[in-house]
Amino acid sequence: MQYISTRDKNLKISFEQAVKRGLAPNKGLFVPENYITLPKEFWDNLYGMSLQEIGYQVGRQYVGDEIPDDDFRQICNEVLNFDIPLVNVKDNIYSLELFHGPTCAFKDVGARFMARCLGYFSRQRNEKTVILVATSGDTGSAVANGFLNVPGVDVIILYPSGKVSEIQEKQLTTNGGNITALEVDGVFDDCQALVKTAFANFDTKDKIKLTSANSINIARLIPQSFYYYYAVSQLKRDDAVICVPSGNFGNITGGILALKSGLKVKHFVAATNANDTVPRYLETGVYTAKPSVQTISNAMDVGDPSNFERLDEIFCHSSNNFGSTISSYSFSDDATRQKMKDTYENHKYILDPHGAVGMLGIEKYLGDDKDTPGVFLETAHPCKFLDVVQQSTGITPQLPEALSRCLGKEKVSIKIDNDYKQLEKILSYRYL
Ligand SMILES: *Cc1c(COP(=O)(O)O)cnc(C)c1O
Repeated sequence: MQYISTRDKNLKISFEQAVKRGLAPNKGLFVPENYITLPKEFWDNLYGMSLQEIGYQVGRQYVGDEIPDDDFRQICNEVLNFDIPLVNVKDNIYSLELFHGPTCAFKDVGARFMARCLGYFSRQRNEKTVILVATSGDTGSAVANGFLNVPGVDVIILYPSGKVSEIQEKQLTTNGGNITALEVDGVFDDCQALVKTAFANFDTKDKIKLTSANSINIARLIPQSFYYYYAVSQLKRDDAVICVPSGNFGNITGGILALKSGLKVKHFVAATNANDTVPRYLETGVYTAKPSVQTISNAMDVGDPSNFERLDEIFCHSSNNFGSTISSYSFSDDATRQKMKDTYENHKYILDPHGAVGMLGIEKYLGDDKDTPGVFLETAHPCKFLDVVQQSTGITPQLPEALSRCLGKEKVSIKIDNDYKQLEKILSYRYL
């Protein structure tokens, strides 16, 4: 499979190059040149197929022969070594629980897949790759954990001191191994600025490759399509409507890639919080980005979703086309809290705020239709949003083992000022 840029059809590159570059020139995004096709046996055997097998069969269509089959199967087995169960919440409504990975958020799968592909290419070329990543909390831990113990790759995370939750800080600072946490005396924007300065100025003299693990990397997008095949594998129906709580719209783009490969899903719903740029686009036909507003489902506080450009390309720049496959609704924090409360009281199911937005979306789309199976994606473990869950439901969800284990470990970080010289010193000392 070759990859092209959304902003330059003539630029065609390999999977390896697309993964290493992340962003295409002129801020374009890489997309597969064609939709994948899967053999008839895949479809014949899909119902009941395991997650690891789906990952291997689907993923290899994107990776082609750039990673040998045995290595690629091992990558899939490692990446997908936890379950993504489909749980019935009520009547015809199901939750696809994406939070059983090591950091309890769905970004684990994408980060782990990208890490292992990059690690494979680094080893092959005898290069050392250093990932520099600024984080305001969640993404950093999924990325760090994704790269943990991957040979050939080091990760340096910059996070704002005192500005992340206790759980998040522990997740960032207790990995050890090839992961280093830098605690910056500043805010998230300062961390991001330091990383950008390093990319612009730090001369590695070709000894090492400095890269980001940006969320728009194609290797983070591809594995997100696995969920949708696995939902159908478990549901064993060809008429599901799937609702994705959306921020940057990467997760739902994975779903649309699955659909375009022939997966039988009846319709998609993209549910957003108050950041309603896409719902407004579908209403008016005009895309207008807005500054993001803060909500309780803060991983979706995005006013200008980066993957809109990929979807717009897939739907041939037509809002009618877009709307015939994806409906999109926006929900308030009040509605989200109420959904969490009702769902716990009536069905004893604990939603996190993102999943609650997803459940609102599927219920709104299906209305009184009790025959069509409705699936929403539950993207984070409720204990990651403890305050909101406690306020809305009055109960405290149990901490999963992965989180309680890291809470018990000691934080290890290097404190630096908001000063590029200090970051440069650390990089020079380690890598020159
Ligand atoms: C990132 C994230 C989302 C949104 O996913 P996108 O791919 O950005 O649309 C939803 N829920 C949680 C918990 C997330 O971390």
